Amino acid sequence: MAGSKHKSVRLSTGVSHRARKRFGQNFLHDQSIIDRIIKSVNPKAEDHLLEIGPGQGALTSQLASVGAQLDCIELDRDLVDHLSNEYQQQDHVCIHQQDILKVDLQQIAESGGNKKLRIIGNLPYNISTPVLFHLLKNHSLIKDMVFMLQLEVVQRMSAGVGDKNYGRLGIMLQYYCEVEHLFNVPSTAFTPQPKVNSAIVRLTPHEKPPIQAKDVECLQTVIRTAFNQRRKTLRNSMKTLLSAEQLSSLSLDSKLRPENLSLADFVLIADSISSQG
Ligand code: SAM
Repeated sequence: MAGSKHKSVRLSTGVSHRARKRFGQNFLHDQSIIDRIIKSVNPKAEDHLLEIGPGQGALTSQLASVGAQLDCIELDRDLVDHLSNEYQQQDHVCIHQQDILKVDLQQIAESGGNKKLRIIGNLPYNISTPVLFHLLKNHSLIKDMVFMLQLEVVQRMSAGVGDKNYGRLGIMLQYYCEVEHLFNVPSTAFTPQPKVNSAIVRLTPHEKPPIQAKDVECLQTVIRTAFNQRRKTLRNSMKTLLSAEQLSSLSLDSKLRPENLSLADFVLIADSISSQG
């Protein structure tokens, strides 16, 4: 994501830092966007906040200023040293040098007395989907999440039935969460400027899931199989997973294509397969 023409920045540790492409580093500099993100999060002193990829701290200072417990997970050692230096006087802020994909969310939640986590991040776009799925493994520990992501990804996350962006990512996220596309962010808000536009999305895990599959892995297989063959009708794409008789017993139109099926329809198919044993 990081572009090629960008200057280095002198960090508080004296180290000169240049945005690293391999870490998906595009730093936010537009104060009006930063303020809008913080307003969307609306952090409170009693919250337990978790920031992913704080970078040079664009969002961190306003998050820290509310006085809540704030854990920050950053992979880049130079930035970790800089942030640890900046926040050394603030005991409620803890900077972890770690890969978010390896973080034990349970442990972080326990350190805050098992309060549900409020997660914020301008995510490294190259790993955004694995990060979302890693966090959702622990959806019951999360109160809400506000993320900056590539606009195209946010459109897929929030797409409903019939939408051209409707697919696997959106359906699986909507299984666990309410998904809200809040606003778009132009590439000019970052240094270096990415080649894509971005958007802010809020994910709120359902307190009580509106619909529950007997076996989530089976649901994932059904959705993956259906969308791998997007142009095929249900009757054709589901052949490897269930028989024509089984499918017709489900009162679904087997001539439909995956983009016409709701989450409830996919759960119906998955549950029929799971109950076969
Ligand atoms: N929050 C900052 C901002 O808005 O300016 C930085 C955002 S930048 C798009 C993404 C940040 O995530 C970088 O600081 C990068 O070093 C960090 N990062 C990349 N991969 C990571 C990983 N696997 N775990 C934790 N942080 C990571």
